[in-house]
Parts: sequence; structure tokens; C-alpha cells
Amino acid sequence: MTAPGPFLPLRFLKGVGPVRAAALSEAGCASGWDLLSHLPFRYEDRRAVVPIASLSTPGERYAIRGRVTAMDWHQARRRNLFILKLLVADESGFIPVVFFNQRWLLDIFKEGMNLFLYGKLSARREWVLESPRWELAAAPRGETGRVVPVYPALGPLNSRQIGLLIGQVLDLCPSPLSDPLPADLTAAEGLPPLERALRDLHRPETMEAHEAGRRRLIFDELFTYELALLLNRRKRDLAASGPRVDLTDALRARVRDILPFKLTGGQREAVRTIAHDMASGRPMRRLLHGDVGCGKTIVAAIAAVAAIESGHQAAYMAPTAILAEQHFARFAALFSRSGYAVRLLTSGTPAAERRGILAGLGDGSVPLVVGTHALLEDPVAFGSLGLVVVDEEHRFGVRQRLRLRAKGKSPHYLVMTATPIPRTLTLTLYGDLDVTAITEMPPGRTKVKTLLRPEAKRPEALAFVRDQIAAGRQAFIVYPLIEESENFEARALTAHFDAVAAALPGVPVAMLHGRLPYKEKEGVMRRFASGAVGALVATTVVEVGVDVPNASVMLVESAERFGLAQLHQLRGRVGRARHTSWCVLLHGGGASEESLQRLQLFEKIDDGFALAEEDWNLRGPGDLLGLRQWGLPRFRAADLFRDRPVLERARKAAARWLSDHPLEECEALVGELYRYWTFEEVPI
Ligand code: ADP
Ligand code: MG
Repeated sequence: MTAPGPFLPLRFLKGVGPVRAAALSEAGCASGWDLLSHLPFRYEDRRAVVPIASLSTPGERYAIRGRVTAMDWHQARRRNLFILKLLVADESGFIPVVFFNQRWLLDIFKEGMNLFLYGKLSARREWVLESPRWELAAAPRGETGRVVPVYPALGPLNSRQIGLLIGQVLDLCPSPLSDPLPADLTAAEGLPPLERALRDLHRPETMEAHEAGRRRLIFDELFTYELALLLNRRKRDLAASGPRVDLTDALRARVRDILPFKLTGGQREAVRTIAHDMASGRPMRRLLHGDVGCGKTIVAAIAAVAAIESGHQAAYMAPTAILAEQHFARFAALFSRSGYAVRLLTSGTPAAERRGILAGLGDGSVPLVVGTHALLEDPVAFGSLGLVVVDEEHRFGVRQRLRLRAKGKSPHYLVMTATPIPRTLTLTLYGDLDVTAITEMPPGRTKVKTLLRPEAKRPEALAFVRDQIAAGRQAFIVYPLIEESENFEARALTAHFDAVAAALPGVPVAMLHGRLPYKEKEGVMRRFASGAVGALVATTVVEVGVDVPNASVMLVESAERFGLAQLHQLRGRVGRARHTSWCVLLHGGGASEESLQRLQLFEKIDDGFALAEEDWNLRGPGDLLGLRQWGLPRFRAADLFRDRPVLERARKAAARWLSDHPLEECEALVGELYRYWTFEEVPI
């Protein structure tokens, strides 16, 4: 019989029956390899067995060998605690050893018995070894004298049980073990062969031996991910032809027609790149990254003109109805001279109108549609969808992204986001997109001054708002309310609204929240945009995209309840004209130390991308960016935050491998690597 290799089914292992196999499978562990790639989180150095007399530092762990010279136990009356106490001696001295709530040990330990013990020295009334690991000297499990890996629990199995199973898998693996990565690649990366890596991880001879092994597994996983991503992309590029776009003089004239202002250098560069993509004959797949207010909309509009003038349709998807409406208005104005029929499709679109739009999209007579998720619904079909623009991408899940794209035959695809994402995440989430960043702002912007104040300063903050409005400016006052319960939201916001109105006598104040009927929302926004409303009391519906250049104050209540990315979006609502603008954050008394630290960071840093990196450094992925919503892949060995540098290296290595090898060879490699690594959320 040939050795089964690392992928053997778990039921081949001693100690794994159907019940345990099912429980392990539930925990995501189905084969020997799944065990081998379950990494220890710590190692115990039990190599040196020391004389008891040398135990010297409470808090340290020690391995000893000694004889049980006395045993005693009692049940603590008040707490429900069973305490077993042994006195263990060697030639050099003795030490008390205690175990808690393990009555069954009474049946195991006997006076006179020799034990190996490993545990932490604790200073109680006397020094004791507390809840140590133990082995009977007469029947050792082979842990003493070794470096012992400690594993995170896996389903019902504890570390020791996992270690025993992994030991069996290692013994069953053939040697030499086949290695999915070519030797020249691992050598170039300074990584050990797989067999070596696994032995060093699970049976290390020194306390440091596991490090290279760990690097190897993490690299393998991230390399697999990146190579698969790049390979998919390459294959699609080769297979699909993009909607044909001709860069003619007529098109250039059309674009000049609609331009309301002179493009910035960054916008021109982005337009050039996108035009090149769209004329290449292959489907464009590009991420347009740029801070709030850098002017991404006009770039998308120009791409739409290119698609439409070449006989295709364009679809623009925004994350909220308010934004879709706003973009619709902007596009309608931009395109008023080109005579394009622009339509708005949201879940609020009346049925009759909706039927008309669907018909127009189907027969191609509607060249440009702006909308929300409503665009993804089944009845929406296009005659010839040539361009998909997804704005503020992070709000959509990966699957939704795919669905709109699937409505055309490989349409050109432009994702726009202002969410500052650390580079690591860009490589992961958008790994198969080309990235263009706009780093400069349109002329005439001023830096927004950010102030962080305790809630006690609310009267001063409102007085400041009053002064700004008296000087002809306008203000946003934003409250963090729970989006899921919109009725509650409306009521709570009304209370705030009354307080604000009382503090701003004579100022027209309006209220905006998600629950308002469309017409009313639109009316409020229009009055705010025209200057008729001085202060807008709102929930985060104003977060993205709303454009009112005369506004000079963004006052945020309970700022600690917002994520940094969200705050950054809010701050981007002001500072859109020449006057000085302010972002005032009020924080509640209950704000944690950590959230204050974050807000202080926000006060100091105004570049969104720098902020994202800093925040990422400070807190790791956490909840700030709503990662789950984005559909990040679940990695097994790697940790995106901890292993950022490895991700960069793996990305480079994958790109190099792809360009140096024929496609079939890359496919074979990915196929092989996929036996080892799979990703729950497959990248698109
Ligand atoms: P974002 O990148 O956040 O989507 P927008 O496209 O909404 O930014 O642009 C923000 C504001 O800047 C809009 O009012 C827009 O008209 C204006 N703008 C964009 N580009 C320019 C430019 N080159 N010159 C002057 N104003 C511009
Ligand atoms: Mg925008």
C-alpha cells in the first residue's frame, strides 16, 4: 500500500471514529492536511528537566521530574472548587503542586509515583506549581524533553489531542513529501521545503525552528490566493473581448461639450487611462480610488460618453437612493446638451415609469441609467451594456458587484471608491482590478480644520454654528443613529432637531433621515443646496456624496460611535469652496480610551489614505471598515493584518511567476495549490 500523503481522510487516524470525524469536519477539518495546516499559537520548552531547587522565578514555566511524596485534597465549601495538592520531591528539594476541579486525578496519582511535570511557578502563600501538564514517568507520552506545540482548540479537541493526531499524520506522510511549490520559487523566497516546514512547525527541535515553517505556510496560502486571482484575470482578458469603443474626434468633441470645468491633472490622467482601457478591445476592470471630493464623477461621466457614443449603454450604480438621485440630477444636467435620455431607477420608482425604463433599457433606447440595487433585479436587462460604473463600492457585496456586470457581455467595469483602504486590502479585495488613484483636489479647496471636544462644549459648538450661518455659511449637524430601526431613528432625530432649532433662533433648520418620503427628502436637499436652509440636522444619509459647497461646518455628535472611514466621509462634505471649513467632533463622556485615541488621530491626519493606514496599524482590521460586509476571504494560516508584508511579497512572486511561465503551467500550479488551500469567499 502506498502512503496516503497529507490528504488522508481523518478516519484513517487512531482515535478518530465517525463522531469525532464529523465534529472535526464541522470545525473545517476534513483531512490530514487540514490538521497539518492548523498552526500552533505557542510552544512550550520542555527540553530541559531542571532540579526543583532551581525553580526561582514566579510566572516562569518549568519542567521537572519528581516523586509524589504526599497527597491531599479538599472541597472548598463556599466556591464549588475541588483542590488536589501533591507534594513532589527530587534529590534537590520539593514543591507543592495543585490541580483544580480534576477529581479524576485521584484515581491516577499515587504516593511514590514518579511524574514529569511542566507548568507555571506561582507565588501563593508559598510557591506552587499550578495546574501543570503531567506525564507518568512509567508511561510517558513523549512530551518531556521536547519543544511542545500548543494548538488552538479544534472542535471538541484540545491541544494535546490535536498534537497526537498531527503526530500520526506526520508519521503516515511519505518522505520525501511532495512539495507543491517549485524548488526555485521557495529558494528565491528563502523558504524551506514543505516537509521541512511541517516538521519544524509540529516537531520543532528548538524554540525558534517553527518560524521558517510558519512563514512557508503563510506564504503558500497568500501566494495561492494571489496567483489564482491574477491567473483568473489573465484568462478572462484572453477570452473576452470588451465592448468596442472608438476614440474618435467626434467623441472628443462630445466630451468637450459636456465638460463644466477644466480637469485636474489627476482627472486627465485617469480619463486617458480609462479611454485606453476601453479602446483596447478587452474589458476594462479598473478601480478608481480617490479621496472624497477629488472629482471622480466627471471621470465616470466621460467614460459613459465613450460607451454611449460607440453605441452601447452605461449603468451607474450608487449605494443609496439619495446618492443615486443626486447623481441622476448631475448627469441629467451634464448631458442636457448631448440629448441622452438619462433615467433613474430605484426601488422607489413608480411601477408605470419603471416599466418604461425597463423597456428602454431592453431595446437600447435608454443609453444611461443611474440607480441603486434596483438595477440588479432580474427584470433589468440591457440591449447592449457597455459600461458598468459602481460608485462607493465598499457598500456593495462582492456578489452584487458581479451581478450587475453579468447583465452585459463582459462590459467595461469601473469601480469608484473614496473609502480609504489600506494597500493590503486593496491587493486582496481588488486584487484583480487595475488601480488608478487621483491624488489631487480640484482647485480652490481649503483644508478642513478638525476639532475634537467633549459634549460639555455643545453650547459653544452651536454658538459657533450660529456665527458661521450669520456669516452666510451653512452647517451639517449629524447624529449617529441606528439605520435598522428607521422609525426609532426618525423619533430620536426629531428630539435633536428641536434642541438644535432652539439653539439657533431665527435660523431655518431642516431634518433629513432615511425614513422621509422621497419627495420630502428631495425638497429638503434642494432647500439646503439653494441656501434656504441654514442648518441640516441629519443622520448619516448625508455621509456620502452630498455636495453643498457653501456649507462650512460639519458638527458630529457622539463621534466615538462612527468609524474613521465614516467620519472621513462626513468631513469631506465641507471644505468644498474657498472659505475656511470646520469639522467639529463632540464625544460623549462614555467614550473609551481607544476610541478617543482614534478620534485624536482623526483630528491630526486629514489625508484619508494615511488615516486608513494609521487606523489599520492602531487597531487591525477590527470592525471599522466593515470587512465582513466586503466578503473578505477567510484565510487559514495567514492573517491579513499581521502578514501584510508577506502578502506584498506573495503578490510580486505570483505576478512574476505568471509572466515567466506559460498559462498551462500556471494553471497546473494553481490546481495543485488548490488541493492545499481553498478560500471560502472566492475573489472575483
Ligand atoms: P468625488 O470624487 O467625491 O465623487 P465629485 O465628483 O462629487 O467628487 O466632485 C466633487 C466636487 O468637485 C463637485 O462639486 C464637482 O463638480 C467638483 N469638481 C470636480 N472636478 C473639478 C474640477 N476639475 N474643477 C473644479 N471643480 C471640480
Ligand atoms: Mg462621489
